[in-house]
Amino acid sequence: MTAPNEFIEIEENLKEIQAKVSEAVRRYRPETAVEIMAVTKTVSPEKINFAVSKGLTLLGENRVQEFLSKKDSYDKSAQVHMIGHLQTNKVKYIINDVAMIQSVDSLKLAGEINKHAAKNNKVMDILLEVNIGDEASKSGVDKNSLFQLAEQIQPLENIRLRGLMAIPPIGADEKIFEQMNILYNELKDKKLGNSLIDTLSMGMSGDYELAIKHGSTLVRIGTKLFGARKYLEV
Ligand SMILES: *Cc1c(COP(=O)(O)O)cnc(C)c1O
Repeated sequence: MTAPNEFIEIEENLKEIQAKVSEAVRRYRPETAVEIMAVTKTVSPEKINFAVSKGLTLLGENRVQEFLSKKDSYDKSAQVHMIGHLQTNKVKYIINDVAMIQSVDSLKLAGEINKHAAKNNKVMDILLEVNIGDEASKSGVDKNSLFQLAEQIQPLENIRLRGLMAIPPIGADEKIFEQMNILYNELKDKKLGNSLIDTLSMGMSGDYELAIKHGSTLVRIGTKLFGARKYLEV
């Protein structure tokens, strides 16, 4: 059972995040909308559903196994995006339960998503994940191969490219965020056939205001919303 004050904290955290997002949008980019995603790893469905009841409409999942064990308990009014590294052999388990896959970083994975989307008569929205900090420990396509990959996936008719996702290194210089925004605008300007570029997924608990300053349209918040991830609650 979750103590009542933990729910109060989530509600207060959400209000604070919403206020800060609105303020950053007003200050830097008054013409755009920024979506707030709740990142759910290690968080119980009870808390996730509470956040949804308070107005969140977007959930981010990292691990296929954990998602599968929790998804039936989720309030269905929120959309789910896969944001974690995805193995090709797991695509089939999530293809009908997510609205977007943000972590596509290879032609092989894109092909597998396309295949399973076709089998299920759907078009899956995807983002290409960019390893913007060139970190060996992180997944994501190298920025120098990004546009090549974006072009290679164009013939795949059951996926639709919606934009880019990045996890800048902790404490990253503002230049990294600027670079992502430049790549995003270049991708938009290419007007690739099978694409509708409207999403730059960038910004987490520690840097979402900076990310909004540099073009983010979707911030992914875990810790600031649900508290520190100390242990697996489920
Ligand atoms: C965990 C995670 C987040 C959220 O991180 P916080 O710092 O807890 O807000 C965002 N994006 C991805 C891909 C994550 O794995």
